Amino acid sequence: MAVPPNSTAELRYPYDAHPAPGTTIEVAPGVRWLSMPMGGSLNHINLYLLEDDAGWYVVDTGLHNEEVERLWHTLFQGDMGGRPVLGVICTHMHPDHTGQAAMITEHFQCPLLMTQLEFLHTRMMVGGGGGPSHMLNWQGRRHFQRAGMDMSFFAQMEAMWQARMEEARQKADATAQPGSGGGPMGMPFPASYQRLVDGQILQIGGNEWQVLVGAGHSPEHACLYCRQLGVLISGDQILPVITSNVSVQPTEPEANPLRIWLDAHDRFLGVLPPETFVLPAHNLPFYGVRERLRQLIVHHEDRMLAVEEACAESPRTAAELLPVLFRRELEPMQKMMALGEAIAHLNLLRHRYRLERELGEDGVYRYHSIDPTLPRRLNPKEHEDPEDAPMFI
Ligand SMILES: [Zn+2]
Repeated sequence: MAVPPNSTAELRYPYDAHPAPGTTIEVAPGVRWLSMPMGGSLNHINLYLLEDDAGWYVVDTGLHNEEVERLWHTLFQGDMGGRPVLGVICTHMHPDHTGQAAMITEHFQCPLLMTQLEFLHTRMMVGGGGGPSHMLNWQGRRHFQRAGMDMSFFAQMEAMWQARMEEARQKADATAQPGSGGGPMGMPFPASYQRLVDGQILQIGGNEWQVLVGAGHSPEHACLYCRQLGVLISGDQILPVITSNVSVQPTEPEANPLRIWLDAHDRFLGVLPPETFVLPAHNLPFYGVRERLRQLIVHHEDRMLAVEEACAESPRTAAELLPVLFRRELEPMQKMMALGEAIAHLNLLRHRYRLERELGEDGVYRYHSIDPTLPRRLNPKEHEDPEDAPMFI
């Protein structure tokens, strides 16, 4: 788990526990917090309810499974007082955020609100082209080969995706709802939406919620900021304690997601006042948004410097850099995420003209330092420890 040094020292957490399953806590006037169960080390996602005159807006929805659906029905009759959902807002495409969007919008016949890229990516994920085909074709194979991964790794990934897609296909056949587009990922998802754009204001219950768009973890991630309440619903864009996955995947091997991730942090620093109360999708609500943004920037800058130093000793492949970033022997899925993060750091370093890569006769990229100022910036003893393993967030 990624824990930047002193990551909690300057943050303040007014609540020390999550709401019990099927219940909510009012964390600001007209704003309710709930948690839904998730597998893995994280075990929960935080969702939020915004109260309007005639009902509720839901922000993020939980995973697509029976337990989460059952808890939603408990809430509809319980803390939500039998009043309808007027709209479902998904911050971004990942299944823990979008999994119940179809169920809720069907149940209340209400719109889904999302940015365009997140909506289209989700549609692509649930419906498109036979699933994650980049894991099963020459582009995927070339991506992992160029990163210096053993080809037995690719075979392992291929087998895992095949099994996963088969399982999802069976599940989709069993759960497909007309018009909602159950696809090979086994998750139904609305076929239409209302587009959210950066800067847009949503009027909900007398409050103005401004859409703040970030990126890097996902393509067009929406956060919601209410100046009157001093509250930011941050999704996965700003999390306390853990760092979100920012990685390069075979679908876009030359992508530079860490640059847009850091750019978003800079923009958010320009907008959010220090007293903002942050409602994140994982861990606990907190104060200290500016400290947290700074910690995350410093964390990635430190990781990049550690990578540069390793590449100054001798040319390195992306695969050889994994131990610089991660401490543990990783499972195949974790290794894929970790590799994606390593390449994200490498692509930003290339963009900053600090590293260059050369393609060897063996088809593998090796990265070497080209920055004459590196000796002045060297910091070999003072780095953060490698992270344990990448987050599936
Ligand atoms: Zn996410």
